Amino acid sequence: MLGECHAHIIMNGKNYKEAVSLHKNKVDETVIHMHFQRWRELGITFVRDGGDALGVSGRAKELAPEYGIDYRTPIFAIHKKGHYGGIVGHAFTDWGEYEGLIQRAKREGADFIKIMISGIMSFDAFGVLSEEGVSGEEIREMIHIVHEEGMKVMAHGNGDKTVRAALTAGVDTLEHGNYLEQDTLMLLADSNTIWVPTLAPTGNLLGCGRFPDEQVKQILDRQMEAVDYAFAKGARLGLGSDSGAYLVPHGQGLLDEYEWMKRAVGQEHEAELRQRLKKSEEWIRKEMKR
Ligand SMILES: [Zn+2]
Repeated sequence: MLGECHAHIIMNGKNYKEAVSLHKNKVDETVIHMHFQRWRELGITFVRDGGDALGVSGRAKELAPEYGIDYRTPIFAIHKKGHYGGIVGHAFTDWGEYEGLIQRAKREGADFIKIMISGIMSFDAFGVLSEEGVSGEEIREMIHIVHEEGMKVMAHGNGDKTVRAALTAGVDTLEHGNYLEQDTLMLLADSNTIWVPTLAPTGNLLGCGRFPDEQVKQILDRQMEAVDYAFAKGARLGLGSDSGAYLVPHGQGLLDEYEWMKRAVGQEHEAELRQRLKKSEEWIRKEMKR
């Protein structure tokens, strides 16, 4: 079974606020055990988390060995104050504070650093992000500093310009990456960056009634086409479902992600897809740890 390269154990795939509130005063270990059980049942032995602000993934890392799961976490994600990211991490206002957060993540046992460089998807409107994201210059500096610290970088990024800056700065793994243009997909294919396109959080919304289906479908089709193109150009792709996100349960989410991915590149390429996803996972297992 392939590993899960993008999960949020703090979330439950149903109700974000409710899930987070369980851990308000103290990490609730019962839900962590529940999610680990599910992964184990499905034979998933590798999970990379995206971090959270309440220490849940940090605690999960300590419990993972009981389940025979190799679990990696950045502990928390780092974002620039005033931008998206508060729900999964901590903010910085200047480079001194940024350095401080990297040191803190290291101290708390981070396997790699997670940065937030763009807004999130608006599933009710094709092409729209919740915000523009940080500047290209800041993105390059964020990535550069982490590499100087000898850590690898997982970046949450959507939108063409934002992702282009991250790619030119040598980001190690790019998460989501919605709305990329052909040039940027080429750049991605020529780079060493692993792209984790997280199709399930969009695809699983189809028919749920929460957002207009025609918008969701357009967003999904756009991303599937981009994945197909990047695959054809030889880009490194990673399998991560963003499990914990709405309608993406831990465990099942990974199976869903694989199905969406397969549909994107075409059934006939399944063997090669699987092999390439495995290779990316092996790289992450080997490099994104301390
Ligand atoms: Zn995520």
